[in-house]
Amino acid sequence: MAQHQDHGNKSPAATAFHANVTHVEVPHTASVKPCHDCVGLGRKRCNHCYGIGRKRCAPCNGSGRQMHQGGQCPFCLGLGRNRCSSCNGHGHVICRTCNGGCELKVFHKIDHRVDSAP
Ligand SMILES: [Zn+2]
Ligand SMILES: [Zn+2]
Ligand SMILES: [Zn+2]
Repeated sequence: MAQHQDHGNKSPAATAFHANVTHVEVPHTASVKPCHDCVGLGRKRCNHCYGIGRKRCAPCNGSGRQMHQGGQCPFCLGLGRNRCSSCNGHGHVICRTCNGGCELKVFHKIDHRVDSAP
């Protein structure tokens, strides 16, 4: 008894099916609009410091003092806060969607599907 068991595979042909979808730009449909992600500002508020540009100093937990010795924390010089490394203290970062360009090029696309039959 060497019968092949089918484990609920309804269509065996589906596994041998390959489709390549490429996006083709439709001519004369391109336009430029303000970036929806940053509302045309080219930058976004830093998520790590919430736009403040500073973060609570982790080694002293924001107290500005060394945990055990009780002296001034060398990491934040007693301030209890450190410059945010994600935005370098600016409080904002360059928008990745438009790369800081404030605008996005939009155009209609056709899904050009190429079915390669086996
Ligand atoms: Zn930040
Ligand atoms: Zn500190
Ligand atoms: Zn943007």
